[in-house]
Amino acid sequence: MPAFLPIVSSRGCTNKCSFCYRQQRGYRKHSVDYIIRHIDYLKEKFGVKGISFRDELFNGNEKWVLALCDTLIARDQDIAYITSARADRLSTTMLRKMYRSGCVDLLFGQESGSPKILKEYRKNVTPAQNLRATLLTRAAGIYSTVQIVIGSPGENEHTIAETTAFLQQAGIRHFSLNYLIPLPEAPIWEYVQENNLIPDVEHYLETVARIGGEPLINLTRVPDRQWRLWGKQITFKVQFYYAVKHKLFFTCVRLLVTYPLKVWIPPKIKPRLREILSRALPIPRLRAWLNV
Ligand code: SF4
Repeated sequence: MPAFLPIVSSRGCTNKCSFCYRQQRGYRKHSVDYIIRHIDYLKEKFGVKGISFRDELFNGNEKWVLALCDTLIARDQDIAYITSARADRLSTTMLRKMYRSGCVDLLFGQESGSPKILKEYRKNVTPAQNLRATLLTRAAGIYSTVQIVIGSPGENEHTIAETTAFLQQAGIRHFSLNYLIPLPEAPIWEYVQENNLIPDVEHYLETVARIGGEPLINLTRVPDRQWRLWGKQITFKVQFYYAVKHKLFFTCVRLLVTYPLKVWIPPKIKPRLREILSRALPIPRLRAWLNV
């Protein structure tokens, strides 16, 4: 797998999700010609073999995507690329051409398996559309990375169960899961300010920059402990479901051993425990397998 150099082919997004800082009007793309020249330059100058399109919305204009794919195919560009897409703007033709033109991984900000939470996020997409996009992408021969965000104010046990079932139905083993982090410019930031949930904004933003999408601010009505557990619970249930379905016996055992450790051991003693286990399990591959 080559290293993927980031480039940006567009600015803006057609949607305005409640947690997203990208609220400016408009969506504009570089010309296909410009992008091809950009890729040519990176190939010639640095021998680049992989591109990561870091657009907020790569597939906002189907005509543009197809034109780019056609050009890459016609020029036999020999480049692999990864990018992200909105599920409601995907078509089978687009996916086939993306595959032929070198797309190896499509990231989808699907966020939740709960219709209620998708409404809160103002995603303008349904779980059925998201599921279809994952399955079509896989059928086209492209790896799909599903991205989930939990912790909207209306999140509860029921919506978490919906998201778990949604991921199990998609038949995936790995996915990206983050907790909702309110940021300035995003509509959810107003909610946080109105309810005075962040007394020290500067400290909060510094912490966000450091820890990313880890649990940071509980916007829900459930107790903190339960809210923190959600991420681990979803991950365990989805991975265990996958392992059972595919008869991955050793993965089942590993998950059953490590899940209680992750859930029940207080965070304070985890580094010490990890140290002890490292000494007790001197084989690096075994440590990696147990994820300690
Ligand atoms: S989260 Fe993605 S789809 Fe939503 S507004 Fe931001 S860039 Fe657009």
